[in-house]
Amino acid sequence: MEGNRGSRLLPATERIAALSRVSAALMDELNEERLLHLIAETACELTGAMFAAFTLRPMSGEGQPLVPSEGHLFYLAAVVGATPKQEALFRQMPLGGEGLLAPIFRHGVSVLVSDALAFLHKPDSSQNTTSTASRTAARQAAFAYVHGQLPKEDLRSMGIPRGHPVVRSFLGAPLLDHSRQVRGGLLLGHTEPNQFTQEDEVVLVGLATQAAIALENAHLYRAAQMRAQEVDRIFESIVDGVTLIDDFGNILRENSTARLLREALTESPGGERAIEELLFAPAQRTLNDEAVQDITVIINVDEDETREYLVNASPLRLPPALSGPLVDTEDPPGNVSQAGSRAVVVWHDITEARRLLNERREHAETEARRALLQLILDELPTSVYLVRGHDARLVLANRAATRMWGAVWQIGQPMHEFLTENGLRVFGANGRPLVTEQLATRLVVQDDMSVTIRQHQETIRHPDGTTLPLLVNAVKLTIPNLDGLSAQTATQQRAKWEPVAVVVHQDVTALKEAEQLKDEFLSVAAHELRNPLLVLKGYAQMLLLQSARGKGSALAEWQAEALREIDLATQRLDELTEDLFDVTRLQAGQLVLHDEPTDLVALTRRVVKRQQMTTDRHEISLSTILPHIVLSLDAGRMEQVLSNLIGNAIKYSPRGGPIKVSIHKEDDPEIAVLSIRDYGIGIPEDQQARIFSRFARADNALASGVGGTGLGLYLSRELVERQGGHLWFGSTEGQGSTFFIMLPVGGGYASYGNDAPSSL
Ligand code: ADP
Repeated sequence: MEGNRGSRLLPATERIAALSRVSAALMDELNEERLLHLIAETACELTGAMFAAFTLRPMSGEGQPLVPSEGHLFYLAAVVGATPKQEALFRQMPLGGEGLLAPIFRHGVSVLVSDALAFLHKPDSSQNTTSTASRTAARQAAFAYVHGQLPKEDLRSMGIPRGHPVVRSFLGAPLLDHSRQVRGGLLLGHTEPNQFTQEDEVVLVGLATQAAIALENAHLYRAAQMRAQEVDRIFESIVDGVTLIDDFGNILRENSTARLLREALTESPGGERAIEELLFAPAQRTLNDEAVQDITVIINVDEDETREYLVNASPLRLPPALSGPLVDTEDPPGNVSQAGSRAVVVWHDITEARRLLNERREHAETEARRALLQLILDELPTSVYLVRGHDARLVLANRAATRMWGAVWQIGQPMHEFLTENGLRVFGANGRPLVTEQLATRLVVQDDMSVTIRQHQETIRHPDGTTLPLLVNAVKLTIPNLDGLSAQTATQQRAKWEPVAVVVHQDVTALKEAEQLKDEFLSVAAHELRNPLLVLKGYAQMLLLQSARGKGSALAEWQAEALREIDLATQRLDELTEDLFDVTRLQAGQLVLHDEPTDLVALTRRVVKRQQMTTDRHEISLSTILPHIVLSLDAGRMEQVLSNLIGNAIKYSPRGGPIKVSIHKEDDPEIAVLSIRDYGIGIPEDQQARIFSRFARADNALASGVGGTGLGLYLSRELVERQGGHLWFGSTEGQGSTFFIMLPVGGGYASYGNDAPSSL
C-alpha cells in the first residue's frame, strides 16, 4: 500500500461508499474474521495507512473478558498490509496495553502519534522494554497522557521488535462494547512520519465502533444459536412426548418421542381416534381454557398391547415479535399475542409404572394369602409341609412339622440334606432303617409314583435317641407353578415345572402305646390261656388213649368223637397262643433263632407231605431240579413259615385245585427262591399293601367265611427277613396268588436289629 496521505486525498463519495460497504457487510457478514479484515482494509484505504491490525481481548461465551487490559494477552484477529512472514511474526508477538497501546487498551481512548521514533524514550528502546520498571513507566506515561498531563509525543513506544516493519506514524482506536469495556483495538501504522490526521482519527474511531458492534452482534448471534441448540437438545431428550399445536390443529413442533408414537398410531387401525384423544382433544380443551391435568388415556397400540398415558396440556401465549434496535428490556407482562394461541401437550407413558404397581399389588396380595395360609397351617396340630422337585425341596412347613422333626427344615433345602445335616434317621414299619429314597416324601415326588401315598408308617429317630412314630400321607398336587410369578413367561413356567406334593405327618405315639398295651394284653392272655389249654389237651388225649387201651369203662362212639373234637380244637388254640407268643416276642425283640445247616428241599418236601394229609381237595406238588440245597436256617421256624404259606394256599382256595411249590437256585448273588402258587380267591389290589401287618385280613377272605387271625403273614415275613431273606407275593383277585421266599445261600443271617428303634 502506498504511504501517501490517503484519507485527505480520497473524494467524499468514495469515502462514503467505503463506509457503506462496511455497514452493508455488518448486516450480512457473520464471519467475524472476514468482517474484521474488511474493516481493517477499509481503514487502510480511508487513512492511507500501510498496516492495519485488529487485536482482540479474549472473551468468555457470556461476553466477559478473560484477561486484564494490561499485559500482552490480547490476540491478533486480523492484519492488513503485512507480508505473510510479518503476519506470522505479529501473531507470536505479545500485544496489549503497554507503551503506545496502553491508552487504547487500558483507558479506551484513541492515540495518534506523528512520529514514534522521534520521541522514542532512549533508555528503554533496547531489549529491556519488557522489564517491570519499563512497564511501570509506560503505564504512568499512559495515565498522564489520558488525563491531559502529557503531550502525546511523550508517550513511550514499545520499541520495535526485530522483523517488525518500522512504524513512525501510529494511529489506534479502541473497540468498546456497550458497557464501554475495551474489547480490542484497531491499530494503523506507516513507515513515514506525520501520515495520520485528526480526521483520520475520527474515521478510525467510527470504524472501530462499527467493528465493536459487529463483534457484539456476532457474539449475540452465537449465544442465541447456542441457546437454541441447547433448547432443541433438551426438547429432544425429554422422555415424555411433547407436542406444540396451534389452534387450527396443526402440529408446529414435536419431540422424537411424540413423533414416533404419532407415526406408529397413524399406521395402526383406530390410530386416528387415539391421536385425537391423546393430542388434539387436550389441545383444544386447554385453548378453550379448560384444565387438562393428568388425564388418563388408554390406547390399544395393537391387538395385544395396551398402553396408558397421563396427558397434560397448557396454553402457550407468546409475546409479540420485537422490532427495532436490540435493546435490553424485560418483556412487559400481559403483552401477549392473542391471535396465535398454541397449546403444549405433554403425555407421560405410565404403562410400565402401572404394570409395576399392579405387580407389586399382586405380590402383596399373594404374600398376604401366603401369610394367612402359613398362619392356618401353623395352628394345625399335625405336621404339614410342601415339597417340590425329585429331591423334595421344602416349599413351606408348619410349626408342627418343625416340632416333629425337632429341627428347622430350611426353605429350598432338599430332604436328604436336611436329614443328614440334622442327624435324623427314619425307620419303616418293620423297624428297619429307610434310606431317603424310600421315604413317602421322596417317593411321592417321583415321576413313576401314583399321586397318593397313604398311611405310610415311618418312625423318626432324633439325634438324642428319642423316636416318633408317624403315619405319613403324601399327595402329589397338580399345580403348575408354586411361585405364581406373573412376570414369568409360559415357556419359563413350563421349563420350571416340577412335581409338588403336600405331606401330612400324623403322630401315632398314642396309637403305638395302645398297640403296646394290646401286645402286653395278648402276652398275658396267651400265658393265661396256655395252662388251662394244656390241661384240657392233656386230659382229652389221656381219655382217648386210655379208652383205646381198654382201660376203664369204654367210651361210646359219640363220646370218643367229642373228645377228638376237643383235642383238635385245643390243638388249634395251642397254635393260636403260639402265634400270639411269637408276636409278643417279636415286638419285645425276644425272638431267638437257632440256625443250623438245613436242606431246604428236604424240609419243604416234609411240609408239603404233612399239609397234603390235611386236604384231599387240593393237589400239592413240589417241583425242583435240585436234589438238595443246604442253607443256614432255623429249621423249625422255616417249617412254621412254609406250613403257614401252604396252609393259606389251601385255606384260600376253597374250591380246591392244584398248589404248586417250586424251588430253584440263582447265582450272583447266590440265592434260593421258593414259590407257592395257588388258584384261589387272591388278594384285592387295594389291600395288598397292608396284608403283612398284624391282624390284617383281606375283605374277600372275611367274606368267604374262612377263619384266621391275620398273624401268619406278619410272622412269616418277620421270620424270613430275620434270616436274611425276603418274602413277597403277586396276586390277582379271583385268580390266585403266588408267594415267594428268597433266602441267601451260604450267607448266614443278614445283619439286623442294631438300628431298630426300641419302641417298635
Ligand atoms: P390268616 O390266614 O390267619 O387270616 P395270614 O396272616 O396268614 O392270616 O393272612 C392274612 C390275610 O392274607 C388272610 O386273611 C387273607 O386275606 C390273605 N391271604 C393270605 N394268603 C392268601 C392266599 N394264599 N390267597 C388269598 N388270600 C390270602
